Amino acid sequence: MTHHADVSQLSPATRIVAAGREPRTPGGSVGAPLVLSSTYHAGGDVIYARVGNPTWTAFEEVLGSLEGGLATTFASGMAAVDAVLSLVPVGGVVVAPASAYNGVVATLDQRARAGELEVRFVDVTDTAQVIAACDGAHLVWLESPTNPLLDVADIPALTAAAHAAGALVACDNTFATPLLQRPLEDGVDVVVHSVTKYLAGHSDVIMGACVTADTEHGRALAARVLEHRSLRGAIPGPTETWLALRGIRTLALRVERACRNAAELAERLRRHPAVERVRYPGFGAMVSIDVAAGADAADRLCAATRVWVHSTSLGGVESQLERRRRIALEPETTPVSLVRLSVGIEDVEDLWADLAQALAGA
Ligand SMILES: *Cc1c(COP(=O)(O)O)cnc(C)c1O
Repeated sequence: MTHHADVSQLSPATRIVAAGREPRTPGGSVGAPLVLSSTYHAGGDVIYARVGNPTWTAFEEVLGSLEGGLATTFASGMAAVDAVLSLVPVGGVVVAPASAYNGVVATLDQRARAGELEVRFVDVTDTAQVIAACDGAHLVWLESPTNPLLDVADIPALTAAAHAAGALVACDNTFATPLLQRPLEDGVDVVVHSVTKYLAGHSDVIMGACVTADTEHGRALAARVLEHRSLRGAIPGPTETWLALRGIRTLALRVERACRNAAELAERLRRHPAVERVRYPGFGAMVSIDVAAGADAADRLCAATRVWVHSTSLGGVESQLERRRRIALEPETTPVSLVRLSVGIEDVEDLWADLAQALAGA
């Protein structure tokens, strides 16, 4: 089920809008159709909707165009993670960050305890340590910037070393989005997204995706993740996909505004006496702070905001904050006083005034 608009020569901001459209036929719909049918008339390429859906295809074309590869959507970011881990043979070795999205660390831990995988947890900012751990590995899992420490990995160097050791490389690109970072261009084999976050962007869907290069090797990997999706059945609902497609159309505007707000807030937070440390990689719209007076003060900060929303998750239009260690699953590498800020698209002065009053009270 492919659409036909060739957008490859256009810039990313234009591709986000133009990709995933049906051919222009008089009287045809401009927006991608929301197709809820579970089955199709016999004789076509796809016979059943666990295997293919035109609304998925439209979203996959937009995301694939942005990352420079072939996208496959999943029911959640974690379902996409599961599909990538299915590329590792039973008993295989995975190198992964000790500090990363807590669901990824937990699923790797669980699989290691069950004897399904051997996991070597590393500090992704220590390139030499990661390279040393690659020997005999089947998969190197990268996340950059990481959730929630905002550590940045040297993706090209680690990818080259992993490939030299015969390992595949996956990179969770949720925090950067394909507008700020395209890991496939650095040779990464599979890019993973929690579409739930920036790509959908409105805190109203859970969805995920994998993207592989449009090369012989990448197409073979795409076929394996597609087979995994079809047989395990972790498929996104067409309605969720349609919402994500509607959301991603404004990604360039949202990311531009949120990043500008984040850079300004990071600068002001650095000068605030209640903030011991600001973690901000210099790009993106995520900022984490270590609250000087400790975990209780961090909880009071989160409870005292009126514009910022106290909730988990990130990447929505609304600014959100959360003390990460309130979640039982969170790795101990996250300081207890760390508050993660997902900077949204509101007016930056309103965001600052609200944070400043909440910090003063904490
Ligand atoms: C949220 C998140 C995930 C998991 O995605 P879900 O859509 O919640 O399943 C994976 N990686 C990162 C970096 C995330 O922030």
